[in-house]
Amino acid sequence: MRDDSRSTLTPVVQPRPAAKPAAASAARVITIDIVRVAANWRALAAHVHPAECSAVVKADAYGLGIATVVPALEDAGCRTYFVATIAEASAVRAVAPAGTIYVLDGLLPGQRGPLVEIGARPVLSSLAEVRDWAELGAGRLGPQPAALQLETGMNRLGLSRNEIDVFVAEPDLLARIDVRLVMSHLACADTPQARQNADQLAAFHRLCGRLPAHVVPDQSLAASRGILLGSDYRFDLVRPGYALFAGLREAGDVACAVTVEARVLSVRDVEAGDGVGYGAAWRAKRRSRIATVAIGYADGLPRSAGGVEGRPDGQPPAEVAYQGRRAPIIGPVSMDLITVDVTGLGENAPKRGDNVEIIGPTIRLEDAARASGTIGYELLTGLSRRAARVIRGPLDGQN
Ligand SMILES: *Cc1c(COP(=O)(O)O)cnc(C)c1O
Repeated sequence: MRDDSRSTLTPVVQPRPAAKPAAASAARVITIDIVRVAANWRALAAHVHPAECSAVVKADAYGLGIATVVPALEDAGCRTYFVATIAEASAVRAVAPAGTIYVLDGLLPGQRGPLVEIGARPVLSSLAEVRDWAELGAGRLGPQPAALQLETGMNRLGLSRNEIDVFVAEPDLLARIDVRLVMSHLACADTPQARQNADQLAAFHRLCGRLPAHVVPDQSLAASRGILLGSDYRFDLVRPGYALFAGLREAGDVACAVTVEARVLSVRDVEAGDGVGYGAAWRAKRRSRIATVAIGYADGLPRSAGGVEGRPDGQPPAEVAYQGRRAPIIGPVSMDLITVDVTGLGENAPKRGDNVEIIGPTIRLEDAARASGTIGYELLTGLSRRAARVIRGPLDGQN
């Protein structure tokens, strides 16, 4: 995991301590490689050029921490950020004083003041929100910047065709808003052959064409996976989030920036027929060596990662790795612990105190998620705050 020294990045990010003192002895450690995050952004920015590459850092930067990753993104050259909430906008503003910040939740009653104060732009997705922001623009401040989200097929948030037609009938409405961006979101971008992608692209063009002629802001459609659908989908600005943190191999040198390790608390041998864990749901078929590892659902490892024979979905159990070799999680995941059948590792089984890989080069985030019946997004954003966090900065691993 320390093989990133081949990176040719200039170390421009402020050096940070490699590890809090606690991390060295901690039982659960999440390592966040901000050099990797910066490299991912640069690779994506080069890939989508001349479109601008923003960074979606909602959910506290997909669990990695806004205060941790946004300074690295700033140094890499990122200038535009998307968050979900006003609190997240405020956290981005604290580390990106000149950044452009869009709030995807849009505008709720009572939020105009906080948005203006932070200097964040709402992504307006309904006529009610547009009227609310236009009312602000009619006042002393004048028209304030915002994005418009158009409904092209996701049917979640976005202005419908009928709502857009109101803009032509009421020219004052958009005159009171400084519309900087029009955007929409793809529902099926992870399935490149899905017809809905082309349908949404066509709908986006159609709806943008219905906007009043004086409104010619930047356009944006693609998130991480949308970037791979081709340059037609990139418009002026792309909005990757997941790819920055979890990787997107098809886009070049864009790799996962997170590893999760936990330590073995004890190792024991059980006899054939012995049950392991709550409910004795897993029973040893043979004499087995079981490692008890310090990670559980309170750390963000889903209960559904638990391996009991005959999982309802027929999936094999989730695995962990030790020195590059895999071993299955057996028995239920409990709050703080898992049990791992390390019999197959023989003499090379981990011992008390050893670190086991939960997510890393052997157990990829997507594989860990799939084996738990979920997606990498959920696993990443659910990683706990109680694990020690080690930030790998540009000056780490150089000496
Ligand atoms: C979350 C989100 C993104 C980023 O999606 P990724 O798949 O993580 O790249 C982009 N746009 C909108 C509207 C979103 O909600």
